[in-house]
Amino acid sequence: MTPQKIFELFCELVTTDSPTGDEALLREKLQQKLQSFGAETEVDDAGNLRGFLPGTLELPVKMFSSHMDTVEPGRGVKVILDADGRIHSDGTTILGADDKDGITAILAALESIRAKNLPHGPLEFLFTVGEEKNLNGAARINPGWLRSKFAWVIDGPGEIGTIYANGVGKIGFTIDVKGKAAHAGICPEKGINAFVLASQGIMGMQPGNFGDATMNYGNIHGGIADNVVPDHVTLTGEIRSSNPARIRELQKKLCDHWKQWGEVAFTEGYPPYELENPALIRHTENVLQAAGYTPHLKRFFAGSDANYISKLGIDVCLLATGRAQNHTPAETTTLENLENLAFVVERLMLS
Ligand SMILES: [Zn+2]
Repeated sequence: MTPQKIFELFCELVTTDSPTGDEALLREKLQQKLQSFGAETEVDDAGNLRGFLPGTLELPVKMFSSHMDTVEPGRGVKVILDADGRIHSDGTTILGADDKDGITAILAALESIRAKNLPHGPLEFLFTVGEEKNLNGAARINPGWLRSKFAWVIDGPGEIGTIYANGVGKIGFTIDVKGKAAHAGICPEKGINAFVLASQGIMGMQPGNFGDATMNYGNIHGGIADNVVPDHVTLTGEIRSSNPARIRELQKKLCDHWKQWGEVAFTEGYPPYELENPALIRHTENVLQAAGYTPHLKRFFAGSDANYISKLGIDVCLLATGRAQNHTPAETTTLENLENLAFVVERLMLS
């Protein structure tokens, strides 16, 4: 694919709105594209799209995956290409390079292999829904639906060449703190101000680093009016770690600590993952090196679809795409990144 064609494909994808929960139109387009390259396709109950292209060589099946959904504001994206090759939106929406740069790379690589008639092993493609909402598309994939034992998720932050072989797990929590309402002017002493209780609770267990885990209070709301002693505050937050035992420990600590002020309930999250296949990491490093990149193996402090794909018995690496400031209207990538990423994915498909 020429750089111009890669850019056109990227524009087509980012201008097809697909905020989480609204991926159907994009999925249809991707399904048609996969079929036009000779791949058979299937959509599961969650809405994830799988493609499979039989190989011309007897090799193990390899999978390439990206997510279809974007965060908001992600509707009506206008793509602007600067003279220096920088690509961004008009500033009113995200760009959607997260993760349509990954999808572009996979489709461009596939097209290139088909156009040049290059011999390859069997290839599997996975385009998920709901990644931005606690990875809930990948979470619902049925065991046995995917055929691969090796995969690359093309969705990481940082420079191309960066490999992540882990992902942290996360669990959300809600803390309900109950005080007692009273008239703030006539009899404040008859009330119990829930804000005071919540601040005592926060000061007694402050957010931040807990060894190899983190905890954050991210949202707080409560109270109804300036003349009422507030009887209720709700805090929400999250715990993250690569180590499932540490997550459980912090959950217990949080419950024990907060029990004198309120009630803790745990909400949605996802499990951590750690790739324990040095051969796959070495192979990925070798391919990146041969493609002209300096491979960097880094720790990842967020989650990706790799967290769940790994639970299906598939060894998976998460690769960086070169995009920056994703999840904001300042999100950018470059023509060079799109081209280079497609080249790297093509080398991996042929490796
Ligand atoms: Zn993403």
